[in-house]
Amino acid sequence: MLDAGGAISEQNGPTEAEWEQLAARGIAVVIGPVASLDVQDDTLAGVRLASGRMIPLQALVVAPTFTARTTFLAGLGLTSSPHPLGVGTYLDSDDTGRVLRNGAVVPGVWAAGNATNLMAQVAVSAAAGLGVAVGINADLIAEEVESAVASHRQPFSAAAEARNSSTVLGDRRHGIGVQPNHIRQGQNE
Ligand SMILES: Cc1cc2nc3c(=O)[nH]c(=O)nc-3n(C[C@H](O)[C@H](O)[C@H](O)COP(=O)(O)OP(=O)(O)OC[C@H]3O[C@@H](n4cnc5c(N)ncnc54)[C@H](O)[C@@H]3O)c2cc1C
Repeated sequence: MLDAGGAISEQNGPTEAEWEQLAARGIAVVIGPVASLDVQDDTLAGVRLASGRMIPLQALVVAPTFTARTTFLAGLGLTSSPHPLGVGTYLDSDDTGRVLRNGAVVPGVWAAGNATNLMAQVAVSAAAGLGVAVGINADLIAEEVESAVASHRQPFSAAAEARNSSTVLGDRRHGIGVQPNHIRQGQNE
């Protein structure tokens, strides 16, 4: 909690509405970079601003920013982007975890956890991981089915012919192939 005697921001100051909210709560605002902590008897006593001004404090809270590690995705043309809430950078994705580039789904790339949801904690990250796993599985099945349908529509492909031959003739099928060891050995004897 920020001490009511001195809420300190090193970034942009409050908006008009926020100024009013802070005033209504009796919270003073001091804007300026913090140079050092003032610690007395192993206890926080305040902060010293770069200007030299001392601000007495009983507690100090620092707002962190988060940076998603996405450099390994550069080969896919993917980079992290600034989070709309200004809390860091993240990998944009849709509700199912599909990664987005300029608002469009990047096929085959999924994200879960803090990389795409900076606010997520362990439970939310784990649940997102499960959801993404389900999505990936469904995606792979859809791809296999699509391939099967294409193959089904072209019954005279080499693969289809080999499959039919094997089904109909079994071991009596002809053509070039590798015979099992025991057959080759039997022929040599
Ligand atoms: C200080 C702190 C305290 C927290 N306390 C809590 C708490 O009390 N309760 C709670 O629920 N949540 C807490 N959280 C949040 C929680 O840690 C995260 O929500 C959670 O760990 C997110 O899981 P994740 O799998 O998305 O990411 P991570 O747990 O960060 O896992 C990502 C992994 O990927 C690895 N990695 C990164 N880049 C690469 C790469 N290029 N190749 C291979 N591996 C890579 C990293 O080393 C890391 O092991 C806390 C977080 C912090 C920072």
